[in-house]
Order: sequence, then C-alpha cells, then structure tokens
Amino acid sequence: MEKKAHGLVADWNSLRRIFLQPESEAGKATLLRHMEQILFSLHDFLRQNVGVTEEISLQELATQFKETTISRKPEKKLAEVITALVEDIAPHAVNVSSPYFIGHMTSAIPFFMVHLKTIVAALNQNANKIETSKVVSVIERQVIAKIHRLIFQESNSFYSDHVQNAHTTLGAFTEGGTSANMTALWVARNAAFPPKDGFRGVEADGLASAYRAHDVDRCVVLVSRRGHFSLRKSGGVLGIGNSNIVAIDVDKDNRINLEALEKSIQDFRAQKNVKILAVVGIAGATETGTIDPLADIGDICHKYGIHYHVDAAWGGPTLMSQKYKHFLNGIEKADSVTIDGHKQLYMPMTCGMIFFRDPYIMDKIAYHANYVNRQGSVDLGIKTLAGSREAHALILDSALKIMGSDGYGLLIDHGIDIARSFADEIKRRKIFELTSDPVLNILTYRVNPPEIKLRLLSATGEERKGLIEKLNDININVQRTQRESGKSFVSRTVLEHPASKESLVVLRSVLMNPMTDMKILTEILDEQENIYKSHCGHVYGL
Ligand SMILES: *Cc1c(COP(=O)(O)O)cnc(C)c1O
Repeated sequence: MEKKAHGLVADWNSLRRIFLQPESEAGKATLLRHMEQILFSLHDFLRQNVGVTEEISLQELATQFKETTISRKPEKKLAEVITALVEDIAPHAVNVSSPYFIGHMTSAIPFFMVHLKTIVAALNQNANKIETSKVVSVIERQVIAKIHRLIFQESNSFYSDHVQNAHTTLGAFTEGGTSANMTALWVARNAAFPPKDGFRGVEADGLASAYRAHDVDRCVVLVSRRGHFSLRKSGGVLGIGNSNIVAIDVDKDNRINLEALEKSIQDFRAQKNVKILAVVGIAGATETGTIDPLADIGDICHKYGIHYHVDAAWGGPTLMSQKYKHFLNGIEKADSVTIDGHKQLYMPMTCGMIFFRDPYIMDKIAYHANYVNRQGSVDLGIKTLAGSREAHALILDSALKIMGSDGYGLLIDHGIDIARSFADEIKRRKIFELTSDPVLNILTYRVNPPEIKLRLLSATGEERKGLIEKLNDININVQRTQRESGKSFVSRTVLEHPASKESLVVLRSVLMNPMTDMKILTEILDEQENIYKSHCGHVYGL
C-alpha cells in the first residue's frame, strides 16, 4: 500500500500521547464515527463494509501486500489506520454474518459480543494465573461448572463441592475445538501410561519408554469416518501417530457402525501389544451434522474400560434446546466432552472448551513453575495446554446471562427447523439430490439432474465412473461460480458413499444465522439452478 509522507516521528512525547489517547480532536471524531457504527449498528456496518464488493482475486490482493520491512518511522496516524481497515481492508474480508453465507461454521454473532470482547480487551486479564486475573478465575470456574452441569447433570452436592475447589477441575477453556480434542487425548494418553517400576509416566519419560514399560508397541484412537481432522493432528502431536486414529465405518445415516466399532475393539484387544487410548463419539459431524449413538458407544466403552470422548464441538449447545436436547442422550456417559464457544455459542473467535466427568483426571496434565502455577496454587494455567490466554469466561458468562439457555435454545431450534424445510425444498426440486438428511442444522446435497440420475440407475463400470466424475465436476463448478459471484456462499466437501465407497462431491450448508430464512434459501437454490443451466448443462453435453 502507498505510503504518505507525514513527517511522523517516533519520539518519546508522541509515543506517550498515542499510548494514552487519540492524537487530536479530529482523530477522535474519526474513531468515534467508526466505532459507533461497529458498536451500535454492527450488522449494518458489516453489510455495508464487508464482503467481496468488487471482483478481486487473492492473487491480485497478494501483490498489494509484499512489503517485508518494518518502517522505522510511523507511517500512519491511528485514525488513518482505522479508516483504512474499514474502507480498504474490510471490503476484502468475508462477510460471514450475511444470511446468504451458509457454508461454514462461522457466522453472524449477536452485536453485544463485540461489546463484551472490547471490555475483555480493555481489562486485559491473563486467565493463566490468579495474579493477573483474580475474579476472572472464579468466574471461569463457575461458567465451566454451568456447562459441565448441562452435559453431565451431576448432583447439587457434586457442584457445590467442585465449583470453586482448588484441588479439582471440571474442565478448561481452550483455543478452540482442536486444542480441546487434543487436551482430551492428552489426558487419555497420560492415564493409559501411568508410572510403573521406575518408569515415571509418559509425560515425564516420553512415549518410547512408556511403550517399553507397558509392553505396548501401538496406541490407537477409534472414531467414525466422519471424525474431525483435529483428532489426526492430535495423534501426530501426542506422538502416537496420526495413522493410528482409526476410522470406523459409518451406516447410511453417517453414524458410526456399532458392530464395526465393537469388532475393531475386540480385534485390537486380541493383539496383546495394542492399547486403545480412546473411542470418540461425534455430536454434530463437521460435514454432515450427524450425531453418533452416544449412549450405545458409552456402554461399549464402559464394558471394555476405554476412555470415551465426545466431540460435541458443534452440537454441544443443542443441550439448551428443550425441543432437541434428546439428540444428545448418552453424552453424560462420556469421560470428556469438547464444545466450541465460537460455533453454536455464538462467541467471537476463538473459544473452545473441554470438560471431564472425573474432577481429578486433569491432574494427569498438571504443570508447575516457580514463578506461577506453584504447587497448591489455584492458577488455572496449571492444567491447560495454553499459557497466557484471554478472559473468555467473562464473555460466555455474560452471554449466558443475556440470552438464557432458552435464548440459545431458540437459535438451535431455528437452525434445525430451517434445515428440515431446506431439505424438503431440495427434495422437491428435480435437479437436486439430498445426500445427507439434516439431524442438526447441517445438510449436504448435490446437483444431480434427472438425465444423470436416470442413467446412474443402470450404469456400471466405466460408464458409472464417468457419470460420477461428471457430477463431481458439475458440483465443483456450481459451488465455485456461486462463491465467485459474491452474493451467496455454500461450501463443498467430498463424502464417501457408505455402500459403493465412491467419492461424491457434495454441497454443504450450515444453517446457524437466525436471519437466514426460507426466502433466502430459495434464492440460493434458484441461483444454483441457474448456474447449472447456464454454465454446466451444455459443457457436459446434457
Ligand atoms: C470445528 C470442529 C472441530 C475443530 O474446532 P476448531 O475450533 O476449528 O479448532 C473439531 N471437531 C468438530 C466436530 C468440529 O465441528
């Protein structure tokens, strides 16, 4: 970007001034103008300022950002920087808050979240340790206990014993679902390799010694094919190897096949030197929104004494819907549960959480240091992967007060109800095929025009392969063209057909924005139909 010569200098006087206040009354007026819009008309602001307003490719954008040295002299005043962020940068960001943006798990947030986030930034507490956060630590324990209760529904006396008990931990805030899943598997790994005959435990002595001491040469984690890739990442980081995150087949509804799961457990147990670290149940698969039979998996895990983790990064908040919370029946059997704050708790980026049924199990990952997190202290950072971190608890605790669990329940209900209506509309239209029924508010479908549908019924071998490839190309094209035209966004993924094992490109929609209604969804389907008719039909000789 072009630099203007301002004659700005970094001297002590001006530095002290910008540390404390705006440079001038005019600067202050500019800041107020932008901030007032952001704070009080957030959604208008986003609609007006964010999103691809002009066709500009990432490549073109990249050419504007090739400066690799830090200017020694100040380049801009604060008011200019803010103006540039709003006027030059925001238009090239993605308007995830648009009700037409139904492709990912990132969406509109209530305007007050920005206020809460601003206050958190202003207080600048570090939740890692009491000495830098004090009241935040106790609020964090309280809000973690509230969500824990939503999941595990232990007794009143359980919660009064543990809510502020310095010796126990019900869970922790994390950076997101990835680090929450990683924390769950970290705990499970350490629990699986306790100290033994001179071996001081896997955390101290490492995996090679752990395997020797426990006579193991392989650890596995079992999860359905719909498992999130953060589990594989965790396998890598924890040293057990990402190829040992074993994918179990799913049934036609994308739920884990229980017989296949139990058979896999028995097969691994029959091999003496394999340890099953955990079985993961999914409560809201990232691609299809489907929920595994949580209670049945829990029973299997209890039968074999295996750590049961439920990845409810997406679906966890369904527990606040009176109408749909039964979808998660059995989640209370889990040993650990992941829930993301920045997904269906509608918090700003980024916030995840991990919860454990056993209030002592996080001791397996406790760390102490001489200057913080001392032995016996109540510092929250003792049992988290993160060190310094922001006071998420203030945001979540406040949001729960503003919304009530019924308020969140309404958001959840809207998403699920509208996903069902959307599915009906897709089924009604001849050129589409619903590829996964919505359970929660996520569904997949694809363009599959009648002329191909018909031929697929009888096609075999090469002909069938050709048709599937053609369909995949069509769907890639439709998705890309729609995205590039800049009004609506639906994502795409590849699902393996449970029976034929064919790889199918499907369109994926995530319906979490309360402003998304059927009128908008109808427009989105119309646009896809039009793209198919004007761009694809003739290309594929249809
Ligand atoms: C989103 C998601 C994750 C990963 O969460 P991040 O917050 O993106 O790290 C893990 N599991 C599931 C089921 C998810 O939907």
